[in-house]
Amino acid sequence: MTKVDEKYKVGQYYPTIGIECHVQLKTKTKLFGTASNEARDAEPNTLVDQVCFGMPGALPVLNAEAVRLAAKAAYALGTKPQKFSKFDRKHYFYPDLPKGYQISQYDQPIILDGSITIHLDDNSIKTIHITRAHMEEDAGKSTHPSGADYSLVDLNRAGTPLLEIVSEPEIHNSAEAKAYAKELWLRMKYAGVSDVDLYHGNMRFDVNVSVSKDPNKFGTRSETKNLNSFKSVERAVDYEIKRQIELLEKGQEVVQETRGWLDDKQKTVSQRSKEDAHDYRYFPDPDIPPVVLDDEYLAEIEKDLPIMPDEWREKLQGCELDRQLIETLLEFQVEASTDFLSLLAAEKTTAKTYANWIVNVETPFMREHTGLVFSSESRQKAYVGVNKLVIEGKLSSNGVNSLLIKLFQMEVPCEDVEAVAEELGLIQMNDSGVLEKIVEQVIADNPKPAEDVKGGEMKAIGYLVGQVMKLSQGKANPAEAQKILRAKLGV
Ligand code: ADP
Ligand code: MG
Repeated sequence: MTKVDEKYKVGQYYPTIGIECHVQLKTKTKLFGTASNEARDAEPNTLVDQVCFGMPGALPVLNAEAVRLAAKAAYALGTKPQKFSKFDRKHYFYPDLPKGYQISQYDQPIILDGSITIHLDDNSIKTIHITRAHMEEDAGKSTHPSGADYSLVDLNRAGTPLLEIVSEPEIHNSAEAKAYAKELWLRMKYAGVSDVDLYHGNMRFDVNVSVSKDPNKFGTRSETKNLNSFKSVERAVDYEIKRQIELLEKGQEVVQETRGWLDDKQKTVSQRSKEDAHDYRYFPDPDIPPVVLDDEYLAEIEKDLPIMPDEWREKLQGCELDRQLIETLLEFQVEASTDFLSLLAAEKTTAKTYANWIVNVETPFMREHTGLVFSSESRQKAYVGVNKLVIEGKLSSNGVNSLLIKLFQMEVPCEDVEAVAEELGLIQMNDSGVLEKIVEQVIADNPKPAEDVKGGEMKAIGYLVGQVMKLSQGKANPAEAQKILRAKLGV
């Protein structure tokens, strides 16, 4: 290990964190069987086949698409997939694991030695190395109804293909842990290997935390499992650092154990003492041949790699968008997909406008109306159309948001944005004759402010413009109104 930097010191202790992350690969079927991997809210035990049920004699067959997605993920983790990898059996007993072992990869996983750059809130960046990432099948789910004298097992999740990504212990505070989790999430999302729906457990983080007085030596770690939000990663790390320091300060020891996170109580609790690798009796799975990937296969994957978040950051920085806006865009708007982001990158002034609409209007609206589909063609037509009206001064001040929201709800791409704006009464008054009349009326109705303006008190002009807007029911162009006001008042 390298010496832990002084800046991470908490009291007399140096915290260290390593993160394991399970990513659900988005395949149609399970890792070794024919059952569907797609229906999320299916009835218990309806997405099962002989393999994930552990029927005697059932033979697993490796899902080629899962291998392809894992290989793709390697590039997203800053490396290439291993040309040779194999599957092993990891033995343990659990009611939701009928076979009595999980098929995983042990000493020769599909990914070794990657690295990712994490982006911290103070604008600094840091490289975190990836020790390994291996494919494995998920287990089922046990539930223990409260008060009942039985437990329930649901095997729908059993056999779901996972990629477990293991970081080096190079993370040293909760902000870095959170940034790491977020960056992994972004990369898996952009690589298109997972649905990355945290709420439904598509990505789960296990945080290993230790503290030590010696910056050259790690302490004993605890592992808090199955965190499914960036916030809980951050909080669980903080909680563990504090808990462990308090234990050590009292002269007690940290035990190596698996802990769980209680989100309602915002604390970790002990679940079980930790197994060591030799407890699992790993051996190569005799049913599954090794995975051998040749150059042609890798070239094929490399050819179709999507643009990764770091490359987008660079492009968007070129548009002079600030960091926070870029991160928000990256986070929410992959659905807006490549073609739209290239539209953003096209021209600096428009990029800012579009980015702000995405972040401040579209994202909040879409989050409240989850059923809506807003295709990139629709978005492109809508944004270009609205922007044109803004530039021409045709949209009223409140018009942009209302118009965009109307356009989000249209089923087909809008060919005539101006017509929609007109229908909604959002087009500003362009007839200067009408506007002049309104201005005259406002001056006549407000002699005192009008005099003030004439006398050089320019604050009053804002008030008069406001009156013009009111009288025109918001349809006047405020800049135009001010021009006419000034002309009439001779200032
Ligand atoms: P296991 O699979 O048994 O949990 P690994 O050796 O694969 O164990 O390590 C799991 C994670 O724990 C890795 O991310 C690693 O970086 C991290 N880790 C190992 N030792 C420590 C430590 N002392 N403190 C914090 N993290 C650690
Ligand atoms: Mg672990």
